[in-house]
Amino acid sequence: MTRPITTICCIGAGYVGGPTMAMIAKKCPQISVTVVDISQPRIDAWNSSELPIYEPGLDEIVFECRGKNLFFSTDVEGAIRDCEMIFVSVNTPTKKTGLGKGKAADLTYWELAARTIAACSESDKIIVEKSTVPVRTAEAIEKVLQRNCPHDGVRFDILSNPEFLAEGTAIVDLDAPDRVLIGGKIENAKGQAAVDALVGVYSNWVPKENILTANLWSAELSKLAANAFLAQRISSINAMSALCEATGADVQQVSHAIGTDTRIGSKFLNASVGFGGSCFQKDILNLAYICECHGLPEVAEYWHSVVGMNDYQKSRFVKRMISAMFNTISGKKISMLGYAFKKDTGDTRESPAIDVGHGLIEDGAKLNIYDPKVAAAQIALDMGEEAMKSITCCKTHTESLTGAHAVCIMTEWDEFKTYDWEAIYGVMQKPAFVFDGRLILDHQKLKDIGFIVYALGKPLDP
Ligand code: NAD
Repeated sequence: MTRPITTICCIGAGYVGGPTMAMIAKKCPQISVTVVDISQPRIDAWNSSELPIYEPGLDEIVFECRGKNLFFSTDVEGAIRDCEMIFVSVNTPTKKTGLGKGKAADLTYWELAARTIAACSESDKIIVEKSTVPVRTAEAIEKVLQRNCPHDGVRFDILSNPEFLAEGTAIVDLDAPDRVLIGGKIENAKGQAAVDALVGVYSNWVPKENILTANLWSAELSKLAANAFLAQRISSINAMSALCEATGADVQQVSHAIGTDTRIGSKFLNASVGFGGSCFQKDILNLAYICECHGLPEVAEYWHSVVGMNDYQKSRFVKRMISAMFNTISGKKISMLGYAFKKDTGDTRESPAIDVGHGLIEDGAKLNIYDPKVAAAQIALDMGEEAMKSITCCKTHTESLTGAHAVCIMTEWDEFKTYDWEAIYGVMQKPAFVFDGRLILDHQKLKDIGFIVYALGKPLDP
């Protein structure tokens, strides 16, 4: 019988480490959870009333558990020393270099974390890979741990427990996950005991049948595979959206028709200006890199096409905007509604708004950007000094729309649907264009008001 875990530490207080640990603390009051990070400002924010990330429902959980069994600290060494189980949830960005077109994951932060764990562990530890890592990372990490620990007899068991949460719905996803995947060395008794210990943590709220166990390499690869499949669905429906526009079909009707086939299913079939976020592109490029490393260039090429279609969709959207506005947007004011890569998050990493924004500015447009959750400083950081000369960050949607020639919807925020579009029409230049990159507005109503509407994947007006 495995002894239940009572102390957990998590290295990395980001979009994954923060919410996942908050959920464990809430569901397991008997476990003391400490989240550590090398970033003092991030930890200060976790300890303040303004958390560093926005996720619906996160504040309540953190405010309820913080100071009781949930702690945020920069004392990485101390937290490692005092715990039995260490989640590692550091960032694993894409490296600039690669073999072919694929790009390796940069494991610098992971290796640094592993070296710190090795240096200050005085007792046995279960190390949980929470970050998304390339398949067989555990093998390398094990070597780093074993060869750098100054204390004799300290045992490290490495588990893979990839995180499947989606930003914007992180709390719901963590509360009732479709599945929890735990990979370990289940072929030997000690490896199985480590897996059992983590199963014991999740069993506090996740039904047993939703906790899957696998060998280490299957668990590591499953995360990359899951993201690649999700991104592939988006690229597939986006490819259809281009064909719909060319033929007079309507992508929402096509998506409904194919989604009702239970073999296909209806989720992730919304055409859009493209996927973003810190994971999809990075994980596909990494998957392609791994394929290239294993002499499988054809498989790598298959996955590259998913990223290629995403890039095509963004540039197609910009070109369509320019051509609709009489082939010139020079000096024209364009209101960009939404900047985050999806609704209900303030995260802008790899947001399609960045590429679309640059495309419009390169052609001479002036952008008025409004997003309910993204700060002006973040936009300035993403877009760069030069582009910012053509950008105004607006505090309200009205400020962004007043005097604009066109509006493009870049994020599917619910509030955009509730605006008084008749009043908006009144304050815009004429003809007033709407470019709906998320298919969230009532296009017929907009046309009746007087707007010229371009919606992705919809038949074009003559
Ligand atoms: P993030 O950048 O928000 O957070 C990572 C944190 O780790 C940062 O605060 C950084 O300061 C800290 N860090 C880095 N090295 C450290 C070290 N040696 N010691 C202490 N702290 C250190 O990243 P994220 O979005 O939380 O993603 C983390 C991992 O989870 C990535 O591998 C990502 O691919 C994966 N993932 C992300 C999501 C998502 O939706 N964001 C979902 C599933 C999986």
